[in-house]
Amino acid sequence: MMLNDEYLIHAYGRHEVAIDHGEGVYLYDTNGKKYLDFYAGIGVNALGYGYQAYNDALHKQLDKVLHVSNYFYTPPLLEASKKVVEATKLDQVFFTNSGAEAIEGALKLARKYYFLKHGKADSEIISFHHSFHGRTTGAVKLTGNAHYQEAFGPLMTGVKYASLNDLESVKALINDHTAAIIVEPVQGEGGVNPCTKAFLQGLRALCDENDLCLILDEVQSGMGRTGSLMTYFQFDIMPDIVCLAKALGCGVPVGAFVANKKYGDAMTPGDHGSTYGGNPFVCAAVSAVFDIYEKDHIVEKAQEAGQYLETKLDELEAKCSHVIGHRGLGLMQGIVIDEPKSGFYVKEALAAGLIVVSAGDDVVRLLPPLIITHQEIDQAMAILEKILK
Ligand SMILES: *Cc1c(COP(=O)(O)O)cnc(C)c1O
Repeated sequence: MMLNDEYLIHAYGRHEVAIDHGEGVYLYDTNGKKYLDFYAGIGVNALGYGYQAYNDALHKQLDKVLHVSNYFYTPPLLEASKKVVEATKLDQVFFTNSGAEAIEGALKLARKYYFLKHGKADSEIISFHHSFHGRTTGAVKLTGNAHYQEAFGPLMTGVKYASLNDLESVKALINDHTAAIIVEPVQGEGGVNPCTKAFLQGLRALCDENDLCLILDEVQSGMGRTGSLMTYFQFDIMPDIVCLAKALGCGVPVGAFVANKKYGDAMTPGDHGSTYGGNPFVCAAVSAVFDIYEKDHIVEKAQEAGQYLETKLDELEAKCSHVIGHRGLGLMQGIVIDEPKSGFYVKEALAAGLIVVSAGDDVVRLLPPLIITHQEIDQAMAILEKILK
């Protein structure tokens, strides 16, 4: 196929590959070449491709109604809201169309709470260096990476950046204007950097002491990827708000911000909205995802596969001179390489039939579908070993 992209705005550096279809954990390009997918559409396709129960649920909803706006209830919306709230152990959910919108909503919720408490709109938010929260102008301001912000100012004010796993750096930024702390339990784009348990528990305590909103961005780390449905279950803390997207819908564009009652109640009709957000089609997908997760033990499988992957990465590190370490949690792993050329290795892997992605210049990131088997992990490792030796 000729790849004629003259009608696209060139905001991406795309691979010279056009994908035709997927099956299981494999993608096939328009030339018929087969790829083992350790990228899963940036961690979206937790169930891989063509998962029967998922496709059936979507077909069924397609024939009923796709969209009605948020001025009506629909059974899929109500069903999905119950499932998301139960899954997160929080109280109330607002559905969005993307991760960035979930972040924007969480931001508005935290600011609204601050406004109701202080009677003025001059709140500050603490975020982290090397974080990633999305590409809308609010989310990009929360993203602690100048590269994403540079050209798009002036951006929102009142955001300060602390250092991950450094509680003192957070404490130093808290003042009377602070409304919220936002953090990824495992930073994704910023290099696959997990928070320590002590750090997240420390953030929770700081938020409790100062009446601040703890927002966890689990857009990438959530939905079983790190070995528990929500990563914060492993850290024995509760956020005030969690942001989800990516694997929440396993392929349909849906996100959510989920809040406890304290913050959820801060919003009243008219404060926020979305034309598509939580329409019956995406909500049917969300419900199907939770049903499948439960019935087919997806999180347990992911946890087990994640442990296997980690042992295999130890072996890879021992065998390959270009690998100087690996870090991550569960099926969210980064291979640290000895030179800033992750892009080169991503291309080499692609040529060899394995899809991976970089996370910064020196990390090759693995985000396989959660249904990945040992055999498929072995297959990926064999390709990576050849490339990284
Ligand atoms: C992908 C991502 C986002 C943004 O999600 P979009 O759906 O691309 O808007 C936000 N936060 C994290 C941690 C992400 O990985």
